[in-house]
Amino acid sequence: MLSADTITGTVQVPRPRIEVPPTVCENLSPAAKSALRNEIEALLKARDAVLVAHYYTDPELQSLAEATGGYVSDSLDMARFGHEQKAGTLVVAGVRFMGETAKILNPEKRVIMPELAAECSLDLGCPAEAFAAFCDQHPDRTVVVYANTSAAVKARADWMVTSGSALDVVRHLHAQGRKILWAPDKYLGDYVRSRTGADMLLWNGACVVHEEFKGHELAELRAAHPQAMVLVHPESPPSVIAQADYVGSTSGLIATVKSGRAAEYIVATDKGIFYKMQQAAPGKTLIPAPTSGESATCHSCAACPWMAMNGLSKLAAALRDTTGHEIHVPRAIAERALVPIKRLLDFAAAQKQQIYGNNDA
Ligand code: SF4
Repeated sequence: MLSADTITGTVQVPRPRIEVPPTVCENLSPAAKSALRNEIEALLKARDAVLVAHYYTDPELQSLAEATGGYVSDSLDMARFGHEQKAGTLVVAGVRFMGETAKILNPEKRVIMPELAAECSLDLGCPAEAFAAFCDQHPDRTVVVYANTSAAVKARADWMVTSGSALDVVRHLHAQGRKILWAPDKYLGDYVRSRTGADMLLWNGACVVHEEFKGHELAELRAAHPQAMVLVHPESPPSVIAQADYVGSTSGLIATVKSGRAAEYIVATDKGIFYKMQQAAPGKTLIPAPTSGESATCHSCAACPWMAMNGLSKLAAALRDTTGHEIHVPRAIAERALVPIKRLLDFAAAQKQQIYGNNDA
């Protein structure tokens, strides 16, 4: 018998085994933090660099990005912000595919990261060679990949999408009668398939953070907070998505907290986003969706272990000596990977819509 979170139609290949590192948070005294912040600010200026941080990184990094003229956002918006900057160096606090996307969109700039080993389970779970072989087996399908993939996987794709654009792009392709090969997140793919009715073959990947949210325990939490609005990122399992008042991208979740009438919000995504949510809606109560309970096998407890590798100490070290911190994407791969990224940007421009933070995903 299928569980509520079993996805049918996924690729029948085993998921690669992924070593999930423990989530290690930086533990610095206020004086040490302050000294590092001052040093990083000076180094950013000296290196003609701008700091762009993802919503899931430590609030210390997010606030530092804001304080130094940088930016906090989702992955594609981070790369686009970088493109608009005069600075010659982009410092990307996030995970590796974000650094790669920034480099692909800004080949003339230097892109450095606090920790190149900061990966993503979706990216790790979709190795380029295995994915290319799978694509070769289904030449009749349009290949659509999520932003959370390596440059090499993007280079094999026809389209890249974000969580905020996936529904619009797939609806567009479905209306043209296209069949889709989707990778790597099976939960996001299943959500898009259920909303669009498109013929989608799904890769068997998942985010180790969002996969931990629990439907049964969420129902209990909702019962305890009947007035709360439930906000869910679509990388979550179907039993969690089914209980959402709003399903959306990181930017969309923040916008909904800001505009929503409810006083309380149960949030199913990485806890790092609470920094921006509190900033956007200071009077509102945010409640983390449950990752524990009877069915818990918590790897992450709503804190991405790879995002947590970004800290003030590592950021300062990367700026002191960039050796081992710079992102390089082979030119042939970068040029090919730019095609599906550009297709999304052009599609969004033609649709005159925002590709993230809309009301769909
Ligand atoms: S939260 Fe999930 S999708 Fe985001 S970087 Fe971490 S593992 Fe990847």
